[in-house]
Formats: sequence, structure tokens, C-alpha cells
Amino acid sequence: MAFDRPRDFERRTYQGEWTCSECGAKITELPFEPAPDRPIYCKECWRKKREDRGQR
Ligand SMILES: [Zn+2]
Repeated sequence: MAFDRPRDFERRTYQGEWTCSECGAKITELPFEPAPDRPIYCKECWRKKREDRGQR
């Protein structure tokens, strides 16, 4: 078995400077591409949002 194909499923991170729309924390790294017209959340708030979503 040969694994010479590039892993396009590999997680990449986006470096930059953002402010969390929820708690105002400084964000320097995102696991996804940030959209300029959407609120950006820090890891904790992002997780909270996801958990809230999963409850309903
Ligand atoms: Zn936050």
C-alpha cells in the first residue's frame, strides 16, 4: 500500500488577529476560514455554540 497522495483532509489553521464576538477574547488562530461578514468566536464560545445547538 502506498500513501503518496497528499492528504486533503488534513486540518489546517488560519493565523490572524480577530476578536471573539461573544466574550471579546483575542483570537490568533482559527480551525476554519474566517468569513468577514460573520461573527467569529473563540474556541470556548464556539464549543458552547455547538453544544447549545446539539441540545435542541
Ligand atoms: Zn469567546
